[in-house]
Amino acid sequence: MTFSELELIEPIQKALKLQGYVKPTPIQAQAIPLLLQEKDLLGCAQTGTGKTAAFAIPILQLLHLRGAQSKGSRKIKTLIVTPTRELAIQIGESFADYGKFLHLNHTVIFGGVGQKAQTDALHKGVDILIATPGRLLDLMNQGFISLKDVEFFVLDEADRMLDMGFIHDVKKLIAALPKQRQSLFFSATMPPAITQLANTILKNPVRVEVTPVSSTAETINQFLYYVDRNNKYDLLLHLLESKEIKTALVFTRTKHGADKVVKVLAKEGIKAAAIHGNKSQNARQNALENFKNQSIRVLVATDIAARGIDIDELAHVINFEIPNISETYVHRIGRTGRAGANGTAISFCDAEEKDFLKDIHKLINKDIPVIEDHPFPFQGTRYEKKPNDQRGRRNNHGGGDRKPKSGNAKGDGRQGGEKPKKKYFKQKENR
Ligand code: AMP
Repeated sequence: MTFSELELIEPIQKALKLQGYVKPTPIQAQAIPLLLQEKDLLGCAQTGTGKTAAFAIPILQLLHLRGAQSKGSRKIKTLIVTPTRELAIQIGESFADYGKFLHLNHTVIFGGVGQKAQTDALHKGVDILIATPGRLLDLMNQGFISLKDVEFFVLDEADRMLDMGFIHDVKKLIAALPKQRQSLFFSATMPPAITQLANTILKNPVRVEVTPVSSTAETINQFLYYVDRNNKYDLLLHLLESKEIKTALVFTRTKHGADKVVKVLAKEGIKAAAIHGNKSQNARQNALENFKNQSIRVLVATDIAARGIDIDELAHVINFEIPNISETYVHRIGRTGRAGANGTAISFCDAEEKDFLKDIHKLINKDIPVIEDHPFPFQGTRYEKKPNDQRGRRNNHGGGDRKPKSGNAKGDGRQGGEKPKKKYFKQKENR
């Protein structure tokens, strides 16, 4: 199928060509015709499937055909609610890209920054509003936003919205929407609470499902390294010695963990930045921009901050820590191998993370292939605190934990029994 078979208007076709899109993705092929028929939609799709275009294109087309831009002052005709600022910004960019040759405008609002620029934009009149729930409600309560003209309502990443505790906000804003509207609901997973919420929003929806969360894209090569927790920095540095990894998105479970990885990389001269909830909106945007234009090589992120971030040609995702929620693994590695491109997802698993890994294997219905041949093989017993076991001691200069298990160091050019290269801890110990 091609985009021309989807009966899209010329200015949209032209914009898609400019983006280099040749073929609609499966969710686009399924959803666009249904949405152009003004149906409500329940979309079970994760980020990376092309779902933004699947809703942005038909909305732009219908708004244009209804002459939204020509009827006096602009009113909010479309409301898109999404859980994170990064996603909101990206959706805004998509509307700008696909609507490049139309005369519709959009604005993006989110918390964590001053509201003046946002209220100024709202004053001027907006056709399409993309918002995170907190700031949206806040500005509604202050009287800056009226939803009474909304014709299209999109709730994006609904499962994440619930995870992040936005359910009450979402219910409040749904109550403020006109009854007569077209509604679209997207979620990567469909647990009962999500289905229930969808039922309160949608009218006779058609359901479109692509790449269920349990299946990891075929274009992603997945690898696993068993490694003791304290050796993860060294393993990361070891992998980054390879020129093949031009850039990498590294995931940690905690904000502190993300900062620590950045610090270690910086000491080794590797340009890196972290994005997480304690970073200002500006810092997060700068980090993302610098990563996109490759002025930094590594972006370290926590799950919520990384949610939905869209980086073209991201070839490597590294799970520095295994996520404790197995669906998160699928979301994380979905940052690479997008829209048919090839990607590699590398995971570091320590002794305490083995149970998380089991859950992931169950969810994706396969075992991630293990790379056994690396300089920092798993000692396995580090956290069992055996008497006289010196391996767990970080400052033990005796070197008991510096030795790879015999036979495990094959292939990295070292003789059996030679100490593995431990750049990071060597530095620490020398201080
Ligand atoms: P999304 O799932 O909306 O976050 O989109 C994932 C990525 O796929 C984005 O980088 C889009 O620009 C890209 N994309 C969306 N649709 C297409 C398409 N039909 N052809 C090629 N790339 C696409």
